[in-house]
Amino acid sequence: MELPRHNLRTPGPTPCPEDVLDAMSGPMINHRGPEFRELISGISEKLKKVFGTEEDVFVLTASGTGCLEASIVNTLSPDDKVLAVSCGSFGDRFASIAQAYGADVTKMSVNWGKAADPDAVREALAADPGIKAVLITHNETSTGITNDLQALSKVIKDEFDKLLLVDAVSSLGCIPLPMDEWRCDVVGTAAQKGMMVPPGLGFISMSADAWAAYKTSTMGRFYFDLGAAQRYLRVGQTPWTPGLPMYYGVNVALDRMMEEGLEQVYRRHARLADFTRESLKAMGLSLFADPDHASDTVTAVWTPDGIDGTELLEQLRVDDAVVLAEGQGKMEGRIFRIGHMGYVDEDDLRVALVALERGLAKAGYRPVGAAGA
Ligand code: PMP
Repeated sequence: MELPRHNLRTPGPTPCPEDVLDAMSGPMINHRGPEFRELISGISEKLKKVFGTEEDVFVLTASGTGCLEASIVNTLSPDDKVLAVSCGSFGDRFASIAQAYGADVTKMSVNWGKAADPDAVREALAADPGIKAVLITHNETSTGITNDLQALSKVIKDEFDKLLLVDAVSSLGCIPLPMDEWRCDVVGTAAQKGMMVPPGLGFISMSADAWAAYKTSTMGRFYFDLGAAQRYLRVGQTPWTPGLPMYYGVNVALDRMMEEGLEQVYRRHARLADFTRESLKAMGLSLFADPDHASDTVTAVWTPDGIDGTELLEQLRVDDAVVLAEGQGKMEGRIFRIGHMGYVDEDDLRVALVALERGLAKAGYRPVGAAGA
């Protein structure tokens, strides 16, 4: 099967640099040998910089959901009270995983398109002193909002001293998230978004408080036991066979990030997000997310009245090789999403946005106020 070279503007997987893909075709090595030891220690050192932590960062052969599962099973016990702050599909997923493992989950459902309100979290924590942990999605990919994690952490950690478990799948490496400075207890992310690597790896780190919780946590765990990951990392290994090609890829991708400079990477994402939002507004489209919390990695757009979003996206794929993402869950068919994270620059987005404008016109869209509207 011949795979097309799409301008893939979904919020993950994202396009990968050629040198990352090339590195992935390297030969297999003994994952209990010296080459792997060198590889994994280099990767973890670079990951510590991206995570902003002095703690170990573990690489899991799993997608982002594996990291969410690992956050829960390594810190909690069945019946532990958990506050799951959900701003969309991925917040719901985090809550569902905790439920699946027997946690006593109270869900705070934030209106889609809005960010979590630190005052509401304070109220919820004050109302139930038995809560042990709070689950938060840093960047909600289904709606295109970024939570103010620093403000939330001040409430959750400084005021209430709860465990703070963070889904950073669509934020880390794109949007600042200094884990230690913001006192996050578990931060997990995945390869296929800001990290510019094909899907299949997760990256996760735990604070000293999280390790203390690990000691007493009784949830069932095996594959995602971070205690095992830590013991093996000490000797330059992983407990289970690692997805070697992805390790080769992430090693190169992290070098790229270090070369560009993390501050520069964050600035690029902010600039591209701004460019995307302004271009969409100039087309007369309405953005879904609260502008005060609009994400720098993904923008959700209301599908204009009278336009079939599924047909529009299909037409863009066929006519222009531009691939955007549909809305998820209850927003399916009502919004569509444009990813601008990872290996992306203005030109990639310009091409996608021009195609979108043309596709919309073909579908009969006339911006409000435009001649003939
Ligand atoms: N959380 C967020 C915020 C995500 O964007 C995603 C993936 N879109 C996930 C979790 C799940 O990650 P994965 O699909 O890699 O399991």
